[in-house]
Amino acid sequence: MEPKTIKKIGVLTSGGDSPGMNAAIRAAVRAGFYYNLEMYGIYRGYEGLIQNDIKKLDSRYITHVLERGGTFLKSARSAEFRTPEGRSKAYENIKAHGIDALVVIGGDGSLTGAHLFFQEYGIPSIGLPGTIDNDLSGTDSTIGFDTACNTAIEAIDKIRDTATSHDRLFFVEVMGRDAGFIAINAGIGSAAAAILIPEKKMPIDHLVDKLKIRSKAKKSSNIVIVAEGGKSGGAGEIAEKVKKFLPSYDIKVTILGHLQRGGAPSSFDRLLASKLGVAAVEGLLQGKYDVMAGLINNKVVYTPIKKAIIDDKSVDEEDFRIAKILST
Ligand code: ATP
Repeated sequence: MEPKTIKKIGVLTSGGDSPGMNAAIRAAVRAGFYYNLEMYGIYRGYEGLIQNDIKKLDSRYITHVLERGGTFLKSARSAEFRTPEGRSKAYENIKAHGIDALVVIGGDGSLTGAHLFFQEYGIPSIGLPGTIDNDLSGTDSTIGFDTACNTAIEAIDKIRDTATSHDRLFFVEVMGRDAGFIAINAGIGSAAAAILIPEKKMPIDHLVDKLKIRSKAKKSSNIVIVAEGGKSGGAGEIAEKVKKFLPSYDIKVTILGHLQRGGAPSSFDRLLASKLGVAAVEGLLQGKYDVMAGLINNKVVYTPIKKAIIDDKSVDEEDFRIAKILST
């Protein structure tokens, strides 16, 4: 497609929030100002686009947001945007504001929406991978993933203190939807006894054997990391099953939940979000549409959204092998 003249860009955050979204918005808006563009904030994701919750941004909006978790534009899940009628309303509002292009920051669902919208209405758009799950291809890391891993590790360190003091076995559930990236990273980074991820099945008897071996080796604490989307169930279910085999163990379950989404973004996520925010605006100006900007080997790469959401990205076998060696 020939590059279109772009003077006004709308930015939105959609789906689950992730630390670094603010930094990405700020970078896109700053880059827009640098290239003398008008920048618009679309509040509450696609829902705000449908309800015309759109404001022209000036530099005051993006002062002191880089370091804050969450998203000042707020995020939402919009059922209406999934319908042709909803997307038609969104298009009318974009036209009314004279917005020429969109930067959509979110996970695979949000990017799917952006792709569909581009197919239907031809509004140039670039997606940025904003999700703690790290489940998008076309980038080594998604915005918020690093912070979520740091948060999980910090929490697990604290759980280990109590696990050691009482010789307890803890099952800690981390987020990640159907992907085990947070689990494997947080598990390796916190010396977990075992890591259960959706990508690899670990039969309960294998887990029990592993825990028995560790018990014989007089390991002072046992923490098992469970990814939320695991096929054998969540941490609670797995703990129940293990309890049947190891009735004498003092077993506890902790679900880290939404605390993994919050907090100030790590330096890595600030840098990633800043680079990708600039890349989004520059990509649009260069006529790169319907793509996701990501960072691979520290270089900005634009991947067709369709590819970024469809290509299976799963936990590196090598990481899994290392986790296995370290937990023996
Ligand atoms: P996270 O991975 O953090 O949950 P996400 O972007 O995948 O983020 P979703 O709830 O899947 O979160 O998607 C966010 C929004 O994107 C949806 O509420 C909907 O408005 C839009 N969306 C998702 N899938 C589609 C689709 N197939 N068609 C149109 N819009 C969609």
